[in-house]
Amino acid sequence: MRGIKKNPYPQPSIRRLPSYLRFLRRLRGEGLLKVSCTEIARELDLDSTQVRKDLALTGIVGRPRIGYGLADLILAIEDFLGWDRTSDAFLAGVGNLGRALIGYDNFRQCGLNIAKVFDTDGDKVGSMVFGRRIHRLGEMPALAAKSGVGLGIITVPAAAAQKVADIMAASGIKGIWNFSPVRLELPSRILVENVELVSSFAILSANMRRKRSRGVAAGHST
Ligand code: NAD
Repeated sequence: MRGIKKNPYPQPSIRRLPSYLRFLRRLRGEGLLKVSCTEIARELDLDSTQVRKDLALTGIVGRPRIGYGLADLILAIEDFLGWDRTSDAFLAGVGNLGRALIGYDNFRQCGLNIAKVFDTDGDKVGSMVFGRRIHRLGEMPALAAKSGVGLGIITVPAAAAQKVADIMAASGIKGIWNFSPVRLELPSRILVENVELVSSFAILSANMRRKRSRGVAAGHST
């Protein structure tokens, strides 16, 4: 519908929240009770006004010269991100990338539980990966109907991605974390977040190139 913004929150702010949370959890582990925007900004090399704006997204307001109660701030960020509850996800494609994601235990700290995993390779189906049985892709709708899963993760080759996304949509999945390089066509009720490690690498690579050419222009040999 016209006039409705697709992303109501500034995406760069959302991207920064996990690093705030990591720092805040560390402070909590050290027994601290309060924290200020200035301390967060100093630790993460950011501007404190930006930090205040980012945190305001969560609905929490700091007190001048006192800052934020650490426990309240952690809860507010976790609640905003939806990380205060566990979401089960189904992952399709237990190859190199799929295995790496399944084996990454720290997703639990973001409330993400890769509950069931799927593949089409007959040699993989029925075997175990990090304590989970690999199911046939065709079993997904029935398993989703049983457990009411909300999230899907796609780590299949590009050629299979749309088909897998369609099966996820038909299984009632509401959000897809898509690692394949395919722009998926799905009903607008389904949220899709595309991940591209190459975009992140492009920033490093371009910055290094710029630094090198500046060095050459200044007559340095490195
Ligand atoms: P891979 O070949 O190691 O694994 C793919 C797996 O998917 C295999 O186990 C295969 O049997 C399975 N598969 C194939 N068709 C399937 C289907 N219809 N349903 C379920 N499973 C199916 O590949 P990989 O290196 O792990 O890469 C997987 C995907 O991730 C590719 O699309 C690749 O381009 C993408 N990728 C993205 C990034 C990123 O930054 N987003 C990084 C690396 C890889």
